[in-house]
Amino acid sequence: MTERRIQDIVIVGGGTAGWMSAAALAQLLPNHYRYRLVESDQISTIGVGEATIPSIRNFNMHLGIDENDFIRHTQGTFKLGIEFVNWGINNSTYFHGFGSVGRDQPTANFYHYWLKLNQMGMAGGLEPYSINTVASMLGKFSVGRPDLPNSPLSDLSYAYHFDAGLYAKYLRAYAEQRGVKRTEGRIVQTLLRESDGYIDALVMENGEKIHGDFFIDCSGMVGLLIEKALQTGYEDWRHWLPCDTAIAVPCSLAGSAQAHTRSTAHSAGWQWRIPLQHRIGNGHVFSSNFMDVAQAQDILMNNLDGKALAEPRQIKFITGKRKKAWNKNCIAIGLSGGFMEPLESTSIHMVKTGLMRLITFFPDKDFDQVDIDNYNRLTDKEYAQIRDFLILHYKVNQRDDSEFWRYCREMDVPESLQIKLDLFASHGRILRENEELFPEDSWLQVMHGQGLRPRRYSPVVDQRSPEEIAGFLHNTQAVICKCVDAMPSHLDYIRANCMA
Ligand code: FAD
Repeated sequence: MTERRIQDIVIVGGGTAGWMSAAALAQLLPNHYRYRLVESDQISTIGVGEATIPSIRNFNMHLGIDENDFIRHTQGTFKLGIEFVNWGINNSTYFHGFGSVGRDQPTANFYHYWLKLNQMGMAGGLEPYSINTVASMLGKFSVGRPDLPNSPLSDLSYAYHFDAGLYAKYLRAYAEQRGVKRTEGRIVQTLLRESDGYIDALVMENGEKIHGDFFIDCSGMVGLLIEKALQTGYEDWRHWLPCDTAIAVPCSLAGSAQAHTRSTAHSAGWQWRIPLQHRIGNGHVFSSNFMDVAQAQDILMNNLDGKALAEPRQIKFITGKRKKAWNKNCIAIGLSGGFMEPLESTSIHMVKTGLMRLITFFPDKDFDQVDIDNYNRLTDKEYAQIRDFLILHYKVNQRDDSEFWRYCREMDVPESLQIKLDLFASHGRILRENEELFPEDSWLQVMHGQGLRPRRYSPVVDQRSPEEIAGFLHNTQAVICKCVDAMPSHLDYIRANCMA
């Protein structure tokens, strides 16, 4: 076995993906392997990527990272979901809260009960049935309370906002303590083996050669190894996800300290607002086919809650994915593997799932093609499922104020998404394929929030009378109100637990 084992693992890039890879591998596979991370101080990291989804907690837990310490060192805040403003239709707001909406019953999801009453004019909005939505709108936050097993508080679902630069720094210290060697310098060439085209070594600007058995490409969108050296190819999804540019700027704290990201749709894209402890991160994501940069920048700068703290920065991207995430002895993790735009904060999650999948299919010197193929097959599936969820936000809209929204409404969507849309439009049913990231209640909140209404509810809810259902809805809402009343404010929670 010993001679078949790979030894030298080289991680290229010291952004979020690079340091997450280094930290996770050094912690989870600490023996036998030598880890080296190469990054260039001359080539900056992307510097955005500050909102996450709940799986980030799982990643930190695998690493044994203490939550409060992590929030303290990254100037972080908590995130219960996303508030969508002007999506679907102008002057509207809806919320995608993590966790459940109501309490599902053995025969039908909560939604069908609500839908029946709503169609009879006996129930208002969906929001009061999500504890995350109610808490977030009132500026409240609490971690889960496993000591209250029958309460919606028992397993509250939440994620984090954090300063991306501080997160990379935090993980760097963690990885270096576990033996990861860091090399600073610019890679100017990648040498391939003549026999099979595998990567042999990296050539640094100072002439040093860095050999490795296995290379993890975390070099960002350029894809230094996976694309520039191995020419793997890229699937361009801009016809489905048309935004291709972002302008980002931090601003001073202002407005309320709610535990959610805000996403405000504009006429050719949308703007994020991510509140941290020391500043607010903002960015305008838009399609350059429908709006020029100067106009996009004006919109952003005129819609900041606080005072701009830096010059706005432009970032170009192509939505899509690398044709193979793993090619020969190189795996692309992070932006080098693809990017589908930040609307549902899924990229950092995909760094995590890429790493966990890598550990499942971890190679030896044989680099068995069956492992590589299955890694790639599962990665493609994950990309496609998340892609469909993102496209949903654009496709289902009634905005008639711009060419961009009309294009989105009329565009063809992947068949896998069309099936979901048709199923929901008929009887409000949501098909969650196995291991799909976003649960039924996420799809529900976005489909409903974007204005899609089923023609009918599931007939099985007719087993219960409207009065019985009204009582059930009333109780659900009352329990949520009581729980939220007992929560501290988001700010008080941070002050009490996460400040030095
Ligand atoms: P980068 O941060 O670009 O790092 C690349 C690294 O490679 C750098 O260290 C650089 O020095 C090094 N490098 C490159 N070339 C060389 C070379 N020749 N020699 C040596 N070193 C080199 N994700 C989320 O989960 N949530 C969000 O809210 C979110 N928002 C986003 C908003 C925008 C506009 C964009 C574009 C992305 C967003 N993302 C978000 C994605 C997220 O930022 C990235 O997935 C994450 O930061 C990982 O980036 P990375 O480490 O792959 O690349």
